[in-house]
Amino acid sequence: MDTSSIRIKEDRLRQDLLDLGRFGETASGGIGRTALSDADLAARQWFKERMREGGLEVREDAAANIIGRMDPPSGSNGAPCIATGSHIDAVAQGGRYDGALGICAGLEALRAIRESGVSLPCPCELLVFTDEEGSHFAGTFGSRAMFKLLQEGEMEKSRGAGMASLAQDLKRMGKDPQKIAEATRSPSEFRAFLELHIEQGPVLEEMGVPIGIVDGIVHLGRYLIRVIGKSGHAGTTPMHLRDDALIKAAGIVTAVNEAVRCAGPEIVGTIGEFRVQPGAINIIPGRVEMSLDLRSMKEEKLTSVKRQIEKIVSSADKARMDTILTKGGVRMDPDVMMTVELSCRERGIPFHRMESGAGHDAMTFPMVNIPAGIIFIPCVGGKSHCPDEEIRFEDACLGAQVLADTMVRLAFRGPLHPLP
Ligand SMILES: [Zn+2]
Repeated sequence: MDTSSIRIKEDRLRQDLLDLGRFGETASGGIGRTALSDADLAARQWFKERMREGGLEVREDAAANIIGRMDPPSGSNGAPCIATGSHIDAVAQGGRYDGALGICAGLEALRAIRESGVSLPCPCELLVFTDEEGSHFAGTFGSRAMFKLLQEGEMEKSRGAGMASLAQDLKRMGKDPQKIAEATRSPSEFRAFLELHIEQGPVLEEMGVPIGIVDGIVHLGRYLIRVIGKSGHAGTTPMHLRDDALIKAAGIVTAVNEAVRCAGPEIVGTIGEFRVQPGAINIIPGRVEMSLDLRSMKEEKLTSVKRQIEKIVSSADKARMDTILTKGGVRMDPDVMMTVELSCRERGIPFHRMESGAGHDAMTFPMVNIPAGIIFIPCVGGKSHCPDEEIRFEDACLGAQVLADTMVRLAFRGPLHPLP
């Protein structure tokens, strides 16, 4: 398959990314564009217009996902589409490129394919998913709604008192949350899904490689560790008569960190929340609660390290560990990954096979057996979910090129058209 006539226009992609980055801009230089906020709604309007200008047929579904479609000149004949996309919403103090890169590069890829004159045998779609970041309740809302994977009642839940639920915000934009099932699509409408995203970590930059090909998304386990002591007066209780929960907890923190480090590079573990009670300068801590977040591509690894940590916790005095949530990892499609790899090789673009420590909309697709792939580009300093999130536009351009080439290669594969 010769894709050399497909040319990404870096200036056009850069301009779209900069323009989109103005919606929800904050004084700190970051982005405040949580899903279905006023800034998000304005950004969506603008982006729909850009999609139409790019020649896409645009509609919005019952879950507020934006769907842009490009049919072959000869009509689609009901052929399943090759889709790409990501999200337009951002976290509260987020950056300009998380999600935004995937939709702007997806649009540029489709424009470049159209301009190349390559005539595809199947339709292409650009999907802009609602609330990937989970600012209302749980993440990847839009992609899960598309395949009927929402939990019972989750649309009515919010992240706290006074915060809007998705049902409320969908109503605010004139949609009927009761009709969410109308967003459902059949997996047979899709041949493959590809998402271009920033890495959100330091690996690619460190290696000096512009493209990451994601093998899968890690398994995740979240736990709550509680340590009980005895609170008392900080002045009148002699040291040898104390049962200080914080001192015991400190021992556990160090031992947990040591256990995860010794388990090798295939697993990461973080204690990121720590609550000391009563939490006063003149009272001996009586109780400590801390979170533990474990992630690994290998489920057995995660289970064995978790067991080891359970032993550490249970051997400490009056300490216990409970599971908050576990989420299974997802493997990306080997054929799609090989096709991304081929696209890199053909253009002489260095790449690195890696895993993703963060979740993305693309992980919804394997759950309904649609082959999916994720392409990463580096972010400067590995920073993401913060105002300092930065990319190099050359990398964005390479990412969009690999995306476009791979979409075309995938379009010519499968039952309709064997690979030329
Ligand atoms: Zn994202």
